Amino acid sequence: MSKREMRAFVVHGPRDGRVEIVPYPTLTSEHDMIVRVHSVGICGTDQHIFDGEFLSPYPIIPGHEFSGIVEEVGAGVDRFQPGDRVSVDPTLYCGGCEYCLTNRFNHCEHWGAIGNTTDGALAEYVAVPAKNAVKMPDEMTFEQGAFVEPIACVVHGMNRLQVRMGDSVLLFGVGAMGLQLIQALAHAGASELVVVDVEQTKLDTALKYGATRGILSETSEAVLSHSYPKGFDIVVDVTGIPQVIQTEFKYLGKTGKFLQFGVTPQEAQITVNPFEIYNQDWTILGSMAINNTFIPAFQLLKEGRIDIGEILTHTISLDEVPELLSQPKDKTALKVQVELIR
Ligand SMILES: [Zn+2]
Ligand SMILES: [Zn+2]
Repeated sequence: MSKREMRAFVVHGPRDGRVEIVPYPTLTSEHDMIVRVHSVGICGTDQHIFDGEFLSPYPIIPGHEFSGIVEEVGAGVDRFQPGDRVSVDPTLYCGGCEYCLTNRFNHCEHWGAIGNTTDGALAEYVAVPAKNAVKMPDEMTFEQGAFVEPIACVVHGMNRLQVRMGDSVLLFGVGAMGLQLIQALAHAGASELVVVDVEQTKLDTALKYGATRGILSETSEAVLSHSYPKGFDIVVDVTGIPQVIQTEFKYLGKTGKFLQFGVTPQEAQITVNPFEIYNQDWTILGSMAINNTFIPAFQLLKEGRIDIGEILTHTISLDEVPELLSQPKDKTALKVQVELIR
């Protein structure tokens, strides 16, 4: 294979994706650079793109949580040189619309993301704007570098939530995102941090990461109503399952804050009693992607404040990606990363 070609996982349409030979990416701007991909995290968004449930143009190479080594730089790039180890923020925004000009970049009218709206990192090489890259220190691993993006989503959620020291927290859904949020909530001052999930092994991991109590979903209704009659200061949904979310509001205490972090299907509906919102002084919050939170996430990882040791459960090769996305999910898996440089 010449350097003008590379291997990539290409999605051609709903549930139609394969590893194939494609052209090496081109530098379309002098401020872009080409990164040789090392590690890529797979997340729910990649599954949605594969399943045809995300508004991506086809064909597309997914992959938006990644790290790698700078391969070549455009003429206008002076902060990086070939060989630099980098983690890359996939967020693309115009900088000129009403939302960008009021610091709401995640709501940019021309919002996009590498791997969501343009070709991403499930390939040997990817083109990125140099301003999106952050140089990794030697002690930071490529695996950590591919975790900055999900943690940046957690940081945005935490900025929305504004935890007060001593707040009691109830969190539903202990997946990879849940375990990152649990660490952030513990650091931010949660007193009780009760978590609910269907898998006991995940509850055990949550306890290692700062949760104070783990409750299996099947017993959660009885246990929560009995042990916490006044509810919680904060309830966080990380399941994205409408039927579960519907049950969560009954555990929200007076002046409580509810954070919808999990992503539901677009047409999902739940019922909330508006009298309760009024009468209980409730706050209901959303958290969409990243808003200038990549650097704080990078710092949290670099300093070990958010640990990924127990969250990264599987490392696979590019060739294993089609099977991963087309098979039913392994319930014990948390984060799966693809390693392109072995
Ligand atoms: Zn993701
Ligand atoms: Zn904009």
